[in-house]
Amino acid sequence: MRDRVFTQLLGTTIQHIEYLRDQEVRSARVSVSTLATLCRSTSASEEVAPDTKIGTEIGGAKLPPPPCSNHSMLLPTPRRWEAASLEPAAKQTALQQLRSRALGCRLCPHLASSRKNVVFGSGSLESEVLFVGEAPGSEEDMTGQPFIGKAGELLTKIIHAMGLSRETVFIANILKCRPDTPGQLSGNRKPSPLEMATCIPYLEEQISIIRPKVMVALGSTAIEGLLRKAPVHVTRIRGQWLQFHDIPLMPTYHPAYLLRSNSMSEKRKVWEDMISVMERIGLPISQKQRNYFLKPS
Ligand code: URA
Repeated sequence: MRDRVFTQLLGTTIQHIEYLRDQEVRSARVSVSTLATLCRSTSASEEVAPDTKIGTEIGGAKLPPPPCSNHSMLLPTPRRWEAASLEPAAKQTALQQLRSRALGCRLCPHLASSRKNVVFGSGSLESEVLFVGEAPGSEEDMTGQPFIGKAGELLTKIIHAMGLSRETVFIANILKCRPDTPGQLSGNRKPSPLEMATCIPYLEEQISIIRPKVMVALGSTAIEGLLRKAPVHVTRIRGQWLQFHDIPLMPTYHPAYLLRSNSMSEKRKVWEDMISVMERIGLPISQKQRNYFLKPS
């Protein structure tokens, strides 16, 4: 147990420093006591001080840092953000390799043992739009495909309404495994900050390989994960372009929220966000499309 905590802290620190490096941060302050703790060997028997904090603090908000495991080879290491896009064949190889790593991932042991499938994501590697959701639900877990339950059906409708298809966009989630619900046969839960921080490097790498022209973050968990900032209030920021590295990011409501609210005006808001996305990538927009979910005057 003690070794596990130590190894977790060490891996966390390494990942956090790699993250800072990718953000072009050139120095980091570390307290003497933290350094001393990290300098102990993995066989050291002392427990890490319970108040030792190595949080990720970006944009004022804190997310717990990603954990690590003894299997450092399996750690998803965020790659440097490359300016250039890969050739199609190189993209395919890179994504295949990433997929194999994700499918074998056991960084969250509780999720690895409860999952039926890792839901890596699906769609075109040449996609101009990448949709990011929260985490697989039970249908996605059963099939290994993202967004195929009720919320997925609505997302598919939205994609079609934009004149696109699931095959021409890419769909992925913040978490690749279904958040477990011990003691419950069904139901979903929001991923924990720790699970998110652990899994997000896979998504970041996916994005850096696919390099879509724009991204759509569906709901607050997707926005929090991508921005590494929590909490976010989706009602306040939806519809306003954000940036993920050099990729424009449109935050909008999650389709599951639309299903719950069943409100025409909320559907219209999401649709307006999608119109902005279509404009941004130069898709043709008919008058009929512009008027979806507007009350007839
Ligand atoms: N299905 C997914 O794949 N992601 C979500 O966020 C919800 C349902």
